[in-house]
Amino acid sequence: MKEPLGMTGLVLNEPLLWEKGKRGRSGFSLPRRDVAPSPLDAGLTGEGPDFPDLSEVDVVRHYTRLSTWNFGVDTGMYPLGSCTMKYNPKTNERQASLPGLAGAHPLLPTNLQQGALKLISELEQYLAEITGMDAVTLQPAAGAQGELTGMLLMHAYHQSKGSPRSKIIVPDTAHGTNPASAALCKYRPVPVKSNEQGILTVDAVLEVMDDDTAGIMVTNPNTLGLFEENIKEIAEVVHSKGGLVYGDGANMNAVMGIVRMGDIGVDVMHLNLHKTFSTPHGGGGPGSGPVCVKSHLEPFLPVPRVIKKKDQYILSDDLPDSIGKLHAFYGNFGVMVKSYNYIRSMGPEDLKKASQLAVLNANYVKEMLCGVLHLAYDRPCMHECVFSDRFQKEQKITTLEMAKRLMDYGFHPPTIYFPLVVNGAIMIEPTETESKENIDEFIDAVKSIVNEAKEAPELVREAPKKCKAKRMDETAAARRPCLAG
Ligand SMILES: *Cc1c(COP(=O)(O)O)cnc(C)c1O
Repeated sequence: MKEPLGMTGLVLNEPLLWEKGKRGRSGFSLPRRDVAPSPLDAGLTGEGPDFPDLSEVDVVRHYTRLSTWNFGVDTGMYPLGSCTMKYNPKTNERQASLPGLAGAHPLLPTNLQQGALKLISELEQYLAEITGMDAVTLQPAAGAQGELTGMLLMHAYHQSKGSPRSKIIVPDTAHGTNPASAALCKYRPVPVKSNEQGILTVDAVLEVMDDDTAGIMVTNPNTLGLFEENIKEIAEVVHSKGGLVYGDGANMNAVMGIVRMGDIGVDVMHLNLHKTFSTPHGGGGPGSGPVCVKSHLEPFLPVPRVIKKKDQYILSDDLPDSIGKLHAFYGNFGVMVKSYNYIRSMGPEDLKKASQLAVLNANYVKEMLCGVLHLAYDRPCMHECVFSDRFQKEQKITTLEMAKRLMDYGFHPPTIYFPLVVNGAIMIEPTETESKENIDEFIDAVKSIVNEAKEAPELVREAPKKCKAKRMDETAAARRPCLAG
């Protein structure tokens, strides 16, 4: 295979700024002043904070070098399953940084906020249309906070009917945050197993659904990258016992313009704007996890809500049954601007095409690597496909080692050891924004690593060799974090 994409040339070392500093160095030079010293100067010349003295070029090189140690979707393919690390068009950033939007203060009087409120209101309508739901809140700042919001809404709904109920059904293919969000709301998650096809069956749900169960949380497509084909019948079972269906829609990237969750029995769901609707993410945000509901849950939505009253958009707190507030002001507005721009610039046809391409790319990876790696469920997938290290057991090569070796080939590793239902899982999500050439390079890299596992296993076992940092001691990193650098 040809030269790998990863770093092969200059890898720059860089000490801490404190180690680089030299007394008396300065980032600027100004003519000697011709006015008397002011009392304020005392703070500057006396015992100030212990900052190193540096020249401008020291500082510029420092940060530029550090930036070359980073890896992001702007540097290469990032096939991290479940996370949808797709490329985000730069125009979205540009619109979000327009001064009128970036500089808008949330405490401005309403008449000076009309543009921002209109944008929020229209984005809510687009998301309602895409999901087939009736009302939306953009307040939650992440998918997991959206789930918590959804659980609070379910709790409030059941409470209004006389009893909050105590349990939630959570399939083994749900995202890990699902049972955690249910538990935060004091619900007891009741696990159900998926079948040998990797999806939920009506019978499995029938067995556990009862009058004390508030509902079910279904990740769809699930974390095996498979569509829950029985969702409609499952929703009927849950509804017949008075329960509600929560849809984890973080994987909407697979089904935009193709499936509307509101049409197949979902009562409440969240989206991840930072995954599907184009906001760079990873490393802590900001994100946005809107919650979309059917009309029977609308009275409980968080306040404030953006409503239109006599041609004016206003933020209304007038919602007596609301679960309250979840985020300061109205959530992460910058992310909303990017998503609004993404949706408007794509239009319905291209949103659908993005999902079709995401699914096509994942199925291409699945077909090309099937037999090279063990495929956990051999059936058409949605936006991601899940393999395991079963075929490499003979050489005692593990998923972790193959993932580390991928870095030597210039790729961010895929998600590993998740979902838990697959031993040694390798979960690959190429996304729609990778070209066939890029995906082929990734496939070649995986094939080459699988060959190395047979012929020169130490290369895989000792990987990464070419990276700045080699194999990390992950236990020490978690137990004794060094926060000083
Ligand atoms: C990413 C993800 C979440 C959690 O979203 P955050 O924004 O990281 O909190 C929940 N469910 C699924 C299926 C996801 O992929």
